[in-house]
Amino acid sequence: MKLDTKSLRYLTPEDWRVLTAVEMGSKNHEIVPTSMIDKIARLRGGSSGVHKSISTLAKAGLIGRIKEAKYDGYRLTYGGLDYLAMHTHSQRDVVYSVGHRVGVGKESDIVMVADKKGRQRILKIHRLGRISFRTVKSNRDYLKRRQGGSWMYLSRLSAMREYAFLEALREEGFPVPEPFAQSRHTIVMSFIDNALPLRQVSAVPDPASLYAELIGLILRLAQHGLIHGDFNEFNIMIQEQKPEGDETQGADEDESSANVSVVPILIDFPQMVSMEHKNAEMYFDRDVACVKRFFERRFHFIATQPGPFFKDVRATVGQNGAKRLDIAVEASGFTKKMSKDLEAAILEQQNTEFSDVSEDDDDEDEDEDDNEQEEEEEAEEAKAEQLGKGEASSTTPSTSDIAEDLP
Ligand code: ADP
Ligand code: MG
Repeated sequence: MKLDTKSLRYLTPEDWRVLTAVEMGSKNHEIVPTSMIDKIARLRGGSSGVHKSISTLAKAGLIGRIKEAKYDGYRLTYGGLDYLAMHTHSQRDVVYSVGHRVGVGKESDIVMVADKKGRQRILKIHRLGRISFRTVKSNRDYLKRRQGGSWMYLSRLSAMREYAFLEALREEGFPVPEPFAQSRHTIVMSFIDNALPLRQVSAVPDPASLYAELIGLILRLAQHGLIHGDFNEFNIMIQEQKPEGDETQGADEDESSANVSVVPILIDFPQMVSMEHKNAEMYFDRDVACVKRFFERRFHFIATQPGPFFKDVRATVGQNGAKRLDIAVEASGFTKKMSKDLEAAILEQQNTEFSDVSEDDDDEDEDEDDNEQEEEEEAEEAKAEQLGKGEASSTTPSTSDIAEDLP
């Protein structure tokens, strides 16, 4: 589902008010009756143009008309929610312009944006619950029964949670992007410059030290009560850093490249779990195994020491005065139900292939997404190959990628 901004600048204040009214109505109505949209919009200071706005919004695909036996009404679309979030980011001066999409996952769209000064930032749009629930029966039943399966609710939870973790981790000095803002199902964070996901890195100066650093991060997270839960080559960004004062060493770039050091930066946190989670051991072991497997395959590096093992690491939780971030985040406005809903949805999503999407899914753009996903995967493979040939590369887009200004 692409972030589409083409109508963003044309909407009037009245249109925004009506769109907000549909959003408010959706909190307790799956389909918001037209009469209710009218009422909420007027209460918020609207005038007589509600119906005109409804038609503008429907034409732009921001709300969808649903005809039901009982009543006619509208429902907010992904596009509508995207617009509301972008509007908020723009009003708060967090985002000024929108550039290209730099990534798409099963759970998100990643878009390059910029603030007023042209500083690049990353907008992550969480898209949970868009895949039909059909893999793990217990999950599916749970999500349906609890009304926890709504994409809007789940995507918002996912963004809230990721933002809370980013803030907490950043505060403790972990190498993670700087969080700037969260609105609805989106977060804005710093763009990790001059970096590639580990998956696209063919060689590093010193695999042993990078491995030690990554295991060190797993252990440090554990001390703070956390397991990343998806600690793989897609969620570890490798940033190239030249040693300070390197410029003074002479003009020959190639000569000095031996001095380049790489720093891992962690991303992607909605699925983080507590060291006290009932499946903590499985998650912990999986994260460790992921790193080991990748290093063996890509860099032919095998650690001399076994482990680390969950049972040993468990004893280190909270040690040396480490703040319990699992407890802190859980206490910051997440109810048990929220955590359970999100976890069920993430599990569901992780277990579902894109090709698993069927017509009974109510997202119109799903087929398009499938193709895009394949194309992007091919493009990524091609990129990885190029890097394999030793070409210097970076994901850093030029400023010309910042295409469209927000109103
Ligand atoms: P998902 O939940 O869909 O896996 P991620 O947060 O892992 O989303 O982001 C997907 C991809 O987008 C990453 O693999 C990375 O290439 C890119 N990306 C995400 N956040 C940033 C960032 N702050 N800076 C640079 N690239 C990023
Ligand atoms: Mg990821």
